[in-house]
Amino acid sequence: MPSHVRPTVIHDVGMLREAVKALRAAGKRIGFVPTMGALHEGHMSLVRACRAECGASVVSIYVNPSQFGPSEDFARYPRTLEADLDLLAAEGIDLVFAPENEAVYGPGHATWVDPGGVAELLEGQCRPGHFRGVATVVLKLFGMVRPDVAYFGQKDYQQAQVIRQMVADLDVSVEIRVCPTVREADGLAMSSRNRYLSPEARQRALVLWRSLEAAHAALSAGERSTAAIEGTMHEVLATAPEAEIEYAVVVHPDTLAPIDRVESGAVALLAVRIEGTRLIDNRILQAD
Ligand code: AMP
Repeated sequence: MPSHVRPTVIHDVGMLREAVKALRAAGKRIGFVPTMGALHEGHMSLVRACRAECGASVVSIYVNPSQFGPSEDFARYPRTLEADLDLLAAEGIDLVFAPENEAVYGPGHATWVDPGGVAELLEGQCRPGHFRGVATVVLKLFGMVRPDVAYFGQKDYQQAQVIRQMVADLDVSVEIRVCPTVREADGLAMSSRNRYLSPEARQRALVLWRSLEAAHAALSAGERSTAAIEGTMHEVLATAPEAEIEYAVVVHPDTLAPIDRVESGAVALLAVRIEGTRLIDNRILQAD
């Protein structure tokens, strides 16, 4: 049994505003960690960064339907609220916002954020409408929480860039922090979707990290050709039976645009389906 006090869980937007207002009136800097729940150590690293830097920490748990495509896993996405609350209690979180869909998207909801630029590449092409859903819900959550600082994971590298771009383009008054990807001991990036993997698929999924390691090693060995490094990534991914590669690329770290020559700081990004489970990962490449 956890001995910690459960955080206050709020489902209503009006009550959230009141609670945050009280924290702000007490002079606290408000940190915010948006999540879809099914929390793991990756999420908890953001929560800890938030706690360390902000006087008050708000975590949202909301599986946002508008960022899932019609054939994606919205219905079966893991929902583990009780376990999530135990984890957050252990970190001393002040407020958890866990709204129902009706509280986020009212019956007349008709306004969407349409992110261009970096949102149009890679994930934007594989998952049409995904970033429109992400940007809209994140802007709405920012409007509800009004945080001073918001925390995102490098695990979703492109998402973090889309949020940065939205905040800059729409003059949203919030600081964005991006925290490093937390991995399992063998390198697999932690993800709520890892629970979909069978033991065999879990083993095969290690090719994502191996592929990123191989890209890193190639750069360190002096390779500068993007095509050659991407070729190495594909070769490693091809060693996993039935891995379906959606993309495995090395691109510019800010724009995610293609590059001819790889310099330190370029980012390798990949999306691969293992036994039907879609996994993404990335690594910023540095020549050792
Ligand atoms: P999600 O619940 O998947 O929407 O993720 C919520 C936040 O946690 C996002 O900013 C993610 O990038 C971040 N996150 C997810 N997995 C990890 C991880 N393994 N390491 C660091 N951050 C993560």
